Amino acid sequence: MREHADEGSVTSGCGYVCKYTPIAVLAGFGVESTRLSPHIGDPTRGEALTHPNLCSYCKAIICSTQRHDVDELLLTSCCDSMRRTADAIDGYGELSYLRILDLPHCDSACAVERYTMQIKHVFEDYSQRTGRTFDLGAAVASVGVAPAQPTGPYLAIVGARMEGDLYRRICDRSPLPVRDLTCVGCEGVGPVPPEERTDVDAFLSWYAGALLAQPGCMRMSVPDDRRTLALDPHLAGVIYHGLKFCDFYSYDFTQLASQLIVPITRLETDWNDQGSGQLATRVDALIESLDLTHAEGNLTMFGPSSSAPRPSEAPGSSSGDPVPHAHHFAGIDSGSTSTDVVIVDETGDVVAHVVRSTGAHALESARSALDDALAQAALAPHDLAYTIATGYGRDGIGIGDAEVTEITCHARGAHEVAPACRTVIDIGGQDSKAIRLGPDGSVRGFAMNDKCAAGTGRFLEAMARTLELSVDELARMGTTWEEDIALSTMCTVFAESEVVSLIAQNKRTSDIVHGIDKSVAVKTAALVSRVGEEPVYLITGGVAQNAGVVAALSARLGSTVQVPSDPQVCGALGAALIARDRMVVRKDTCE
Ligand code: ADP
Repeated sequence: MREHADEGSVTSGCGYVCKYTPIAVLAGFGVESTRLSPHIGDPTRGEALTHPNLCSYCKAIICSTQRHDVDELLLTSCCDSMRRTADAIDGYGELSYLRILDLPHCDSACAVERYTMQIKHVFEDYSQRTGRTFDLGAAVASVGVAPAQPTGPYLAIVGARMEGDLYRRICDRSPLPVRDLTCVGCEGVGPVPPEERTDVDAFLSWYAGALLAQPGCMRMSVPDDRRTLALDPHLAGVIYHGLKFCDFYSYDFTQLASQLIVPITRLETDWNDQGSGQLATRVDALIESLDLTHAEGNLTMFGPSSSAPRPSEAPGSSSGDPVPHAHHFAGIDSGSTSTDVVIVDETGDVVAHVVRSTGAHALESARSALDDALAQAALAPHDLAYTIATGYGRDGIGIGDAEVTEITCHARGAHEVAPACRTVIDIGGQDSKAIRLGPDGSVRGFAMNDKCAAGTGRFLEAMARTLELSVDELARMGTTWEEDIALSTMCTVFAESEVVSLIAQNKRTSDIVHGIDKSVAVKTAALVSRVGEEPVYLITGGVAQNAGVVAALSARLGSTVQVPSDPQVCGALGAALIARDRMVVRKDTCE
């Protein structure tokens, strides 16, 4: 079996995409099989052949066959879209062989019998196509060995197959082994038992059963499988990957999430690497929230909430080690809109804080914000023992000793300024988050809106422009409304048109602003409900300075939303405090 046809390469043999495909039958006839790694390339080609609602994964399969990655294809009827895919490929008429196997939804005795019949159809096809005698020994030898069950803590990837940058990031960042339980993961059902190795019929029916008994993908109705996963004592966390426009994954995710006690996060992609930067925050935050108490082996020294220290430019150390005789700690929050820096001393007291517009140059903004903060505290770079970068730009700026996500940093900052806080609501320039905290300030769960501008600072900025107001003016006007106007859409583009039509109706500006604020509140409250509504609520991020939004949100949640004194620097404060915490941990460990 060959793995993953490369982009643009022409291969002979039979392509397949699903781990339930009976590729050992092909091996028995001396036919090579290639697990395709479909990719779209030119999106217009997939669009032209199908209707727009077909998922990107299916379009990618069509594009791959059009590029002649293979000239034979074995599909399984995972879902209706896969049938449409087979129809489209068949209509195009370029493959020498195409079959879609009717895949049962479980591994009951009846399902195994049905799938055996399906496999026998493939057997007959290839018997005729090749004119060869089936080599049972070759088929048996080709059956991959099932991966060993983990004997220690692991992080599972569940749902749709995942490849590319996102998959590599998870493997690189996870301090635990990563187990791929997606629709291509854990491929391998062998070894074949000795009694099934001598008779073709016996082998085929064993093979059908073994294929169906693999860890179930989202379309298999195997609730026991999910329960077994949820009850696995070695499972430390789950990253669930779904494809846009596919409801199956939503149901499967909801069911699995309701059974888990370990952290889970959901990533949704369009079967491409676009947006992997934003998804990175979800991945990193999930990894930061793993409980590594029982993990053995080569973990990073700082434990659960650490990302690996990295070699860095000054300030801080260049090795990730704290600088000796330095007594201050910095947090740099490189956000989409503002770059914020906080410096704390050994007791955790803030000695400087700076907010600077990020602009088009995140690195320069971070450098100058840090210089200003150092000047404010009358410190030199070598006075910083440890520096942590956070925020959307944390990867890119390359300043500091380590990176921590804004989820963990806002949680730490919020717990410091309001220990009773149980839900942090962070609304920044381009995303918004609800973070559920435990009594000790640890992250119990989080939900993010990072897919569109609705409900974010960007949305408010766009509305302010339409109303010819500054962001400050917009923030003030939302508290003086009289008529309770509601916008009918949360989409930034449509909301702009709606605001224009409200202006044309001579509605009072403050009433329109109230409608805008309510729209942000509705979107944010939906996020909060995803982590479980638990006061005390605290709002952080730049939008916390918008009194109209805070009032609308308090009304929507039915509970006062508290605003800290410097909400925009809460993430940077958390980063500085985590830097300090790490130093304290290290000192304790050394003593
Ligand atoms: P990020 O972390 O993504 O850089 P911030 O937390 O800095 O974002 O929030 C930026 C948003 O905060 C802006 O889009 C704007 O809507 C809002 N904002 C900034 N300053 C104010 C202010 N003085 N009054 C009201 N809103 C503000």
